[in-house]
Amino acid sequence: MKILILGGTGEARQLAHKLHICGHEVITSLAGRTQGPILPEGSVRIGPFGGVAGLVAYLHAEAIERLVDATHPYAGQMSANAVAAAMQAGTPLVRYMRPQWTPLPGQDWIHVASAQEAAAFLPSGAKVLLSTGHDGLELYRTRHDCRFLLRVIEAPNEVLPPNMQMIQSRPPFHLDGEIALMRDHGITHLVSKNSGGSQTEAKLVAAQRLGVQVIMIARPDYAPTLEVGSVDAVLEALGMSAR
Ligand code: NAP
Repeated sequence: MKILILGGTGEARQLAHKLHICGHEVITSLAGRTQGPILPEGSVRIGPFGGVAGLVAYLHAEAIERLVDATHPYAGQMSANAVAAAMQAGTPLVRYMRPQWTPLPGQDWIHVASAQEAAAFLPSGAKVLLSTGHDGLELYRTRHDCRFLLRVIEAPNEVLPPNMQMIQSRPPFHLDGEIALMRDHGITHLVSKNSGGSQTEAKLVAAQRLGVQVIMIARPDYAPTLEVGSVDAVLEALGMSAR
C-alpha cells in the first residue's frame, strides 16, 4: 500500500519504520523547518504542499492510498489541511495524536489558551523558561519587566532583546538536568505547550520539585477524523497488525 505520513515527530519516524518493514511504500513529508532533520525510513519529501489544494494535488499525483497525520499536536494548520484534503481527494485519513500530559497530584498548572494569554499572565519580575519553540516570541519580547531563558533546537533569525537569553538543545531532557537548569537560572515560571510524550516531560516534574509555576498553553482545536493515540493503533486503523 502507498502511504503518505505527515511527519516531523519521533512517532512519525517509528511509524515509517514499522510500515517500511511490513513492505509498504512509505513517503514521509517534512515541513523543512529544521536543518539536518533526523530522516525516517522510506522516501522523504520536504517543504510545504501549498495549502489544501496542493495536498490534494499531491495525493492524486502520487496515487496515495492512505494518509496519516503524525504531525506534532501543535501543528494545527497542517492537521486541518489534512482533514480537508483527505475529504476532497477521497483518501482515508488516520490522525495520530500524542496523549496529553495531565497534572500529577500536587502539580498546579495555570491553563491558558494561547501564547498571548501566557505572556499576559506573567507577573512583573518573573524569570521564565520558555520551552515553546519560536511560537509567540514577539509577544514575550514586549515584557521588558521579565527575564527569559529561551530553549530552542534552532536559533530564531531575529536578534533577541537583552532580557532574553537563548540555549540551544535537543530532547530528550532528563530530570537532573532540568532541575539544574531551572535552579541555575533562578527560574520562577515555565511556559510550556502540552506536547505530551516522555522526551520533554521531565521539566514538569522539575518545576513541581522547585516550586516553579507552570503555565500550560492549550492544544489547538481539531476537526473530527479517525484519531488514535499510539503508533500501533495507527497500524490497526490502517488494517495492519503491529510487529
Ligand atoms: P503548522 O503551523 O500546522 O503548518 C504550517 C504550514 O507548514 C502548513 O500549512 C504546511 O504548509 C506546512 N507544513 C507543516 N507541516 C508539514 C509537513 N509535515 N509536511 C509538509 N508541509 C508541512 O505546522 P508547524 O507547527 O509549523 O510544524 C511544522 C512541522 O514541525 C510539522 O511537521 C510538525 O510535526 C513539526 N513540529 C512542530 C512542533 C510545534 O510545536 N508546532 C514541534 C515539533 C515538531 P502548506 O499549507 O503550504 O502545505
